[in-house]
Amino acid sequence: MLAVKVLQEQGVHVEGINFFTGFCVEGHTHAIRKKDRDKPKRNNALWCAEQLGIKLHIIDVSEDYKDVVLNPKHGYGANLNPCLDCKGFMVHEALSWMKKNDFDFLITGEVIGQRPMSQRKDTMPVISKESGAGDLLLRPLCAKLLPETKPEREGWVDREQLLDFSGRNRKPQMALAEKFGFTDYAQPAGGCCFLTDANYSSKLADLWQARGEKTYEIDDIVMLKVGRHLRPSPHFKLIIARDEGETNFLRGYRKNYLSLNTVSHSGPICLIDGEADEDDLELAARLVARFSSGRTSVRVTVEVRQKNGESRNIEVKPLTAEDIPQEWYV
Ligand code: SF4
Repeated sequence: MLAVKVLQEQGVHVEGINFFTGFCVEGHTHAIRKKDRDKPKRNNALWCAEQLGIKLHIIDVSEDYKDVVLNPKHGYGANLNPCLDCKGFMVHEALSWMKKNDFDFLITGEVIGQRPMSQRKDTMPVISKESGAGDLLLRPLCAKLLPETKPEREGWVDREQLLDFSGRNRKPQMALAEKFGFTDYAQPAGGCCFLTDANYSSKLADLWQARGEKTYEIDDIVMLKVGRHLRPSPHFKLIIARDEGETNFLRGYRKNYLSLNTVSHSGPICLIDGEADEDDLELAARLVARFSSGRTSVRVTVEVRQKNGESRNIEVKPLTAEDIPQEWYV
């Protein structure tokens, strides 16, 4: 928002691009989980565009983005976040869009030293170079600390009016936001991408390990955002809803996964990912019973539903909390 506003102040026409990678936190979890029901469901990219009075282009890059996540040339950050490759990819995509749509240059809100991997003095030129944008990429918030770009040289923007922010401290940004009259803004310190989340990353690593190869489809990565994941055995795992919202959501996937739910007691739905044999299903049913209101009952009836809708009931004794090894929790 600040980078856009700084350029708008100079009379530059700006439009926004929001890339959908499949790993975006926004909206999804908040829309599903009951405890988050009261949180605003706004799409922050659209909201920012509205605040700034700019046109926003939402582009789905989820298919091409797979290669960034699966084979990052520069590796991962603290979790499975390939930030440096990701930025290079996004700027490259933005550059193609810019050329197709007859725009002159690109801006980002990056600030030197703000992020440990992708926003360092030595990595920011890597993004310019590997994206192919070169000196068409301007970072208005720290431009004075970087070499002059073409928009500055050509006089399309006045370098003197650009900024010299650096480091992790966001106080100067907050002061500028106040000066511009922004009283509300999206979470400024990351947190918008599931790949930076340790729990999510361990579920993704588990998925790759269980499949024996690094691949994913959109449904896989959406599923990692939902439910409790337990892997009692390398060849199957359980995805158990944590609340009513997740139960409703997972019900929509019963044609894609074998599913279990308790019928003698109220309880969550559970999807089985992988190949489970009869013994595995009994263990899964005992686990599901553990998370139902019948956890202290002697027997709980669990419906086992095939993907084609055929179902049968089995009666099981719920596992106790002590029966569930901590390592099963992915
Ligand atoms: S946090 Fe996620 S979206 Fe942001 S640069 Fe890193 S990988 Fe890309």
